[in-house]
Amino acid sequence: MLISQNVSMVKPSITLAVSAKAKAMKAEGIDVIALSAGEPDFNTPQHICDAGISAIQSGFTRYTPASGIIELKKAVCEKFSRDNGLEYEPSQVIINCGAKHSVFLAVFALTSPGDEVLVPSPYWVSYYDMVKLAGGKPVVIEGKLENNLKITPEQLKNAITNNTKLLIFNSPSNPTGMIYSKEELRSLAEVIVKYGIYVLSDEIYEKIIYDGKKHVSIASLSDEMFKQTITVNGVSKSYSMTGWRIGYAAGAEEIINAMGTVQSQETSNPCSISQKAALAALTGSQDFLEQWVDEFSKRRLYIIDRLNSLDGVSCITPEGAFYVFPDVSSFYGKSYN
Ligand code: PLP
Repeated sequence: MLISQNVSMVKPSITLAVSAKAKAMKAEGIDVIALSAGEPDFNTPQHICDAGISAIQSGFTRYTPASGIIELKKAVCEKFSRDNGLEYEPSQVIINCGAKHSVFLAVFALTSPGDEVLVPSPYWVSYYDMVKLAGGKPVVIEGKLENNLKITPEQLKNAITNNTKLLIFNSPSNPTGMIYSKEELRSLAEVIVKYGIYVLSDEIYEKIIYDGKKHVSIASLSDEMFKQTITVNGVSKSYSMTGWRIGYAAGAEEIINAMGTVQSQETSNPCSISQKAALAALTGSQDFLEQWVDEFSKRRLYIIDRLNSLDGVSCITPEGAFYVFPDVSSFYGKSYN
């Protein structure tokens, strides 16, 4: 076989394939409404673009430290303290090439061949294949509709074995839009602490939340949870910066350093210009967000209404993120024409 075993087990991202197809069709002049990749359609706010332009004009165009520039790490620490009640030191923070990269590096840093990694479903498509790329065994825990597609502490407990290393957790969730309440997180945290497993908490949608719901970082629940969690976030979704490719992670220094070692051999550093832009995003005005969230919410209610009016389709109303996850199971096994 030409292609290595490492890679041949992994599937390409279907989301990116569908989105590339939609872009190609649009380029051919076809009228396409693309509902594939999770990408805000707003422009990156001007003050953030200006910071990028000024980075270029001032010659900030060379390699940076592999794990990111210190100003940005400090801004990330301030963000975690301000928004999430998490007190990290810059040495516990790494800047990566997008939150996807942060997730991958955390999985890669923690997973040895044979380790089991718990992935609550429905899940963001990349988690499963990232675990396989790292040589781990993904173990899916099915979030049931009767529990709004969230997992319960009992399900978590039953999925843990002696080989369990990590739980990949995502709230607000892609694709369900569901948010775990503080009480739900507390009862999951009890199991996590009892069994001493690690958690990768992907909080990329924390700012895109509707109807007065609150986002709680699972690492903020106790000292133990703080130590056992790698918190991942980034600027792609909240600041409409998907193309700039900046994400970040924070957690125990040992894990963050391991992620830094891999990054240093892999990409060297995240783009210098984008790091300056991300710094402007985290430290500048956040006022535009409210208007964006209002707009996402209107679209959410519109599409939910349209989906629920289709015979055989039902859809729970997302509490966050910008996805809908319609139940089409009434069509399973049926055919048309
Ligand atoms: N995590 C989740 C749950 C996502 O849905 C996405 C993008 O769709 C990412 C991470 C990736 O974010 P980034 O564009 O910063 O790599």
